[in-house]
Amino acid sequence: MRHAPVVIPRSEHCISRAEISRSALKVLYRLKDAGYQAYLVGGSVRDLLLGRHPKDFDVATDAHPEEVRALFGNCRLIGRRFRLAHVRYGREVIEVATFRGLGTEGGDNEHREVSAESGRLLRDNVYGALEEDVWRRDFTANALYYNIADFSVWDFTGGFADLQAQRLRLIGDPELRYREDPVRMLRAARFAAKLGFTVDPDTAAPIGQLAHLIDGVPAARLFDEFLKLFQAGHALASYRELRRFGLFEHLFPATARWLGPGDDARGRFLEAALANTDARVADGRPVTPMFLFGVFLWGPVGDRAVQLAAEGMSDYQALSVAAAELTREQTDRIAVPKRFSIPMREMLQLQSRFDKTSGGRALAFLHSERFRAAYDLLLLRAAVGNADPELARWWTAIQSMSPEEQGRELGLTREGGGKRRPRGGRRGRRSRSGEVSGSPPSA
Ligand code: ATP
Ligand code: MG
Repeated sequence: MRHAPVVIPRSEHCISRAEISRSALKVLYRLKDAGYQAYLVGGSVRDLLLGRHPKDFDVATDAHPEEVRALFGNCRLIGRRFRLAHVRYGREVIEVATFRGLGTEGGDNEHREVSAESGRLLRDNVYGALEEDVWRRDFTANALYYNIADFSVWDFTGGFADLQAQRLRLIGDPELRYREDPVRMLRAARFAAKLGFTVDPDTAAPIGQLAHLIDGVPAARLFDEFLKLFQAGHALASYRELRRFGLFEHLFPATARWLGPGDDARGRFLEAALANTDARVADGRPVTPMFLFGVFLWGPVGDRAVQLAAEGMSDYQALSVAAAELTREQTDRIAVPKRFSIPMREMLQLQSRFDKTSGGRALAFLHSERFRAAYDLLLLRAAVGNADPELARWWTAIQSMSPEEQGRELGLTREGGGKRRPRGGRRGRRSRSGEVSGSPPSA
């Protein structure tokens, strides 16, 4: 299938060079001046047309990688099967890709190969022309090319109209495109969330049947997708889209089982955490993947801990074992690096420490390196009725006390210990509800 492009002249679109990073412009102009074609592509063109600030700039060209390298001193070639050039300016990296050949729909099968480890079709391994490159892209909105030669936008797939209609539409036959690369289903959910677009019915339709293909995606790639879904300021919307499409259960199976339909206290707990993450991103505060991973696992860990405690373990031991089990299961699916999974497991198992509001161990906990993250989770739990709000207030108050006051409050010095201590004070092994302390709501 080949179409002539619609060429949208500069006067009919809003992309101004002032909005393009200087590094990207340098790359585009140097390629053009050397006689090559040079286009801005992908998310940057999409975002510029939407009046958004692109997070990075990708360039497509007919120059081969070695030719690109010859033009730029600050250039590195990466990738084995299909080589890409990375041109670096300070902290900014401009990715320069040579047009890839072999169209998608009706593309000739003889060049197709199947990747052994992922079972996915690989076929974009030959250089081509712009009119071929376009068909391997995922959504029409991601397949617009901004030509540095005359500042026009080239549209082969109807992406310009789709952008205006706020519509996400896969190029080619949706089922085939998802089978080629199941991550495109996650990308559909992500762009719907990030851009607020409607997923075109034909693009949405196969997802229900094909969601299980996510199970075969390498765990490292799913971690990359996790970051883009949940750490970029639209975590709550991403979650809702993933749920709606039946994709969430393939990323977080234990969480999905624990959650059930999700329209109760359990769902509110997750949604509050996601909204909280989005608010942090909006304020420019740092976010760490370990916190949301911990939140997602907290429910199933709590349930498992209840089981283990019923079998005779102490609360702390039960929580530790449950956190270790579920962390292992989850990291098999999504490859969370150890620098996140280790503190996450600690954050979960430390929840039982909040019940002890007196003594040297409580003081040590208060001043430990891991207190902050565990406390943030406690606050979240208290906010949705998953932990005693009075307990959370007590742990909030004690942080702003002087060392002497803390000592008195924790009963470490003689005079008047524990005035502010919440009802129940030192708790027994079981809370009144009979659940292991720190376990999630059973609503
Ligand atoms: P973001 O704003 O997240 O960077 P993006 O659209 O730039 O969004 P990238 O992952 O940076 O997404 O990819 C750049 C471009 O490469 C996309 O716009 C799309 O044209 C193409 N692309 C990326 N991933 C795929 C895929 N899995 N299948 C087909 N095309 C893809
Ligand atoms: Mg991008």
